[in-house]
Amino acid sequence: MNKNTDLSFLESVNSSFDLAANALDLPKGLARQIRTCNAVCEMKFGVELDDGYEIFTGWRATHSEHALPAKGGIRYAPFADQHEVEALAALMTYKCSIVNVPFAGSKGALCIDPKKYSLKELEHITRRFAQELDKRGLLGPGVNVPAPDMGTGQRMMSWIADEYQKLHPNEINARACVTGKPVHFGGVQGRIEATGRGVQYGIQEFFRHQDDVKKAGLSGNLEGKKIIVQGLGNVGYHAAKFLEEEDGALIVGIIERDGAILCDRGLCTEDLYQYKLEHGKIEGFSSGSFIEDGERALEQACDILIPAAMEGVITKMNANRIQAKIIAEAANGPVTFDANQILNQRGVFIIPDTYLNAGGVTVSYFEWLKNLSHVRFGRMERRFMEAQGSRIVRLMESTVDQPLDPIVKAELMKGPDEITLVRSGLEDTMCEAYQEIKEMHLSNSKIKDRRTAAFALAIRKVADIYDSMYL
Ligand code: NAD
Repeated sequence: MNKNTDLSFLESVNSSFDLAANALDLPKGLARQIRTCNAVCEMKFGVELDDGYEIFTGWRATHSEHALPAKGGIRYAPFADQHEVEALAALMTYKCSIVNVPFAGSKGALCIDPKKYSLKELEHITRRFAQELDKRGLLGPGVNVPAPDMGTGQRMMSWIADEYQKLHPNEINARACVTGKPVHFGGVQGRIEATGRGVQYGIQEFFRHQDDVKKAGLSGNLEGKKIIVQGLGNVGYHAAKFLEEEDGALIVGIIERDGAILCDRGLCTEDLYQYKLEHGKIEGFSSGSFIEDGERALEQACDILIPAAMEGVITKMNANRIQAKIIAEAANGPVTFDANQILNQRGVFIIPDTYLNAGGVTVSYFEWLKNLSHVRFGRMERRFMEAQGSRIVRLMESTVDQPLDPIVKAELMKGPDEITLVRSGLEDTMCEAYQEIKEMHLSNSKIKDRRTAAFALAIRKVADIYDSMYL
């Protein structure tokens, strides 16, 4: 390897794993068993399109099988390759374990630029990919359950579910073969926003730990904190929007493919997102100033840098120039292993991807549960809770002998709907996992940072499961 280049994505993930495994006391060889990707399948399949036959290459990696089903997104990207899929599948194993979601890790990709195909062609290609996965036993509610990732979304997930249903007409749980579906097709409220929402909850939890806040050289809460976000896609858009609109943070920079918009007094994320949808770029947006060199914008002064686009954007080439006090990894693998070492030495606090972007898989887990139970969250208990709320209100009013404030009254009498339950389940998951990672960090003197602590937590939990299995 060239000394000036960083480790590859897969090498970075494995090096972080090794660092954490070495800090634990595991039976000989077990760490290697957990780290090894169990199976990778490369598929080449032909699809008849308007212009004739075209051959596509896709992969599905099953990193682990200590729990079932294995879970992980499907990425559509022209640069997809097997090693990237393996790295992402490994991250899924660790991520599920960290947030206590009982799935093993998997990931898939198709080497394709989706923008070059019509909707009809994409449907045809996706359905063919689903057939290929199915005939190799890589699709099904109890074995392997994909979800959206970069370049894929709800519509593709419903094509996969529909194709699976056609292939297995007697499978009553067929729709649970994939998550991230539209709500009218078996999806769950809150899945689209879930990863960005999880990023928000994770950063909120960080600010509840004032010792961590102090360690990062900050004080107070999210109000007025300056944030730069890279990637205004699903994850970046939702994270920026919620942090700005609900927590009062200032989004002082947004970086996209064509450059960055910087604005020290804070941008309106929603307006910029709508502008990008309309124009396909962020250049020309009415507020802030545009710079073409998006990479330079990563190095601007801010409190929190949220890379939410892709892997390997902070490397040993730019790590020394990063001025943010916290890096909140919303994307998978945005900071390389080498950059991580440099940033740790410089005291930059990194909230790691294996934890921070786990909101997507957490809400996917809720969707899978909803599909298996065939009932929407809150359906059984909402009226009951409302009746209970009414009784409490009546009791309170009769005790104080005056009517309660109408807003308080309405809140007490409102039964939970699906979105409220999903958000509260996600928030609880993110808070609990943050605390577990912190405890792992503080209880093991060999662990020097939160990424290593997160990996160690995941390895410990998977090791405990292996310990109870006969291999
Ligand atoms: P997306 O395709 O919706 O958005 C990515 C955005 O980043 C796009 O707007 C794209 O234009 C922009 N982008 C791409 N390359 C860029 C670059 N070099 N500089 C600046 N901007 C760039 O994808 P997404 O679903 O938001 O995923 C983003 C990251 O989050 C990926 O690493 C993905 O693996 C990870 N992730 C996504 C989910 C999910 O639920 N979608 C869950 C966990 C992790």
